[in-house]
Amino acid sequence: MEGMMKAMVLEEPGKLVLRELPIPKPGPRDVLLKTKYAGICGSDFPIYKEGLFVPRLPLIIGHEASAVIVEKGEQVQGYEVGDRVTGTNIQFCGHCQACRETPEGELAWGCENIAVSGLGFGVDGVFAEYFLIHDVIPGVSLFKIDDRADDLEAAMCEPMCTGAGWYQVPDPKPGDNIVIIGAGIIGESVLQQLLKIPDVEIVVADYSKLRLDVAKKMGAHHICNPSTDGDTLDFVIDLWGNKEFLYNYGDRISGNADIVYECSGNAKAWAQAIQIAKPGGKVCTVGTCEGMALVSPQWIQLKQVQVLGGLYGSIGQSVEEINNGTLNVRDLATHVFSLEELNEAFQVAMDADKSIKVLIKVDKDAPDYPYNKQETWG
Ligand SMILES: [Zn+2]
Ligand SMILES: [Zn+2]
Repeated sequence: MEGMMKAMVLEEPGKLVLRELPIPKPGPRDVLLKTKYAGICGSDFPIYKEGLFVPRLPLIIGHEASAVIVEKGEQVQGYEVGDRVTGTNIQFCGHCQACRETPEGELAWGCENIAVSGLGFGVDGVFAEYFLIHDVIPGVSLFKIDDRADDLEAAMCEPMCTGAGWYQVPDPKPGDNIVIIGAGIIGESVLQQLLKIPDVEIVVADYSKLRLDVAKKMGAHHICNPSTDGDTLDFVIDLWGNKEFLYNYGDRISGNADIVYECSGNAKAWAQAIQIAKPGGKVCTVGTCEGMALVSPQWIQLKQVQVLGGLYGSIGQSVEEINNGTLNVRDLATHVFSLEELNEAFQVAMDADKSIKVLIKVDKDAPDYPYNKQETWG
């Protein structure tokens, strides 16, 4: 497809500039997509603010989008021009040792360059009228959206995959007392998954009233805002009592939560999660924390807390659940901006008091949809 497209290019940290660029050409294993809606992700913030995670600037960033296939390479199987799709940032470099040793048709999860090969990280991303998915891997880098999900909802498949992948990792059971720290889209995605389990009781903690209100609406049993409700540990102890543990010297008061999901990415909150968990409880390190945490190793040794780490995501599941309407994502979409307003949109997205998920309506002709509109900003 010949022609020019509008793109917001990150030319230097903090500076996205509207440019007219040639529409990229798909290779034999690539698809060219016309962007409908795009989402701003928490992982875009360090790129936008400091140029972290990416090998070069200028770059078109962004990796969350709904789109339509407008052109495909001759080797691409299973997709047709006109298909509504969402892509992911999982792309393999194809030339490192792991990629070379991985048999044809299998996924090179050991790829050394997986982070910098990805959509909106190493290659141009979705804040443009058109973008490419390179070396399409069906069911990994490209997913079909069916007619039950609209373009706004479909753009939220990728962020919702974290909850779908993580929630089962600590093996939650009916009757468990569970704390979710952080009610951004990651915490909300974990919450929606956990609510499928009968008889769980869930506390969601966050400093953002907006985010807690949405968590409550989604079905959280208790919400705790430490700025008005007191410390999260005290809140949890008031609710479920405290537990003593081996060699309890009085100051080692423990919460009584079976599982704590740390989704805020705050190192202090992660340390407190270890206190909130009951003796023998589990702490899931879901959020990506910046900075260091101060934790007594005795909390882990004597209290026998299991601290779980890892990157989990199941985009196949989140696509299916957005297709069939099981996940509520419209209430998580708080703002929609045009492509030209992307700098302003980033400022709103980085303000947890004002927003949950900020979307960009890239295609001016795409329909408008109802969403959890937050009128006031600034
Ligand atoms: Zn994302
Ligand atoms: Zn590789």
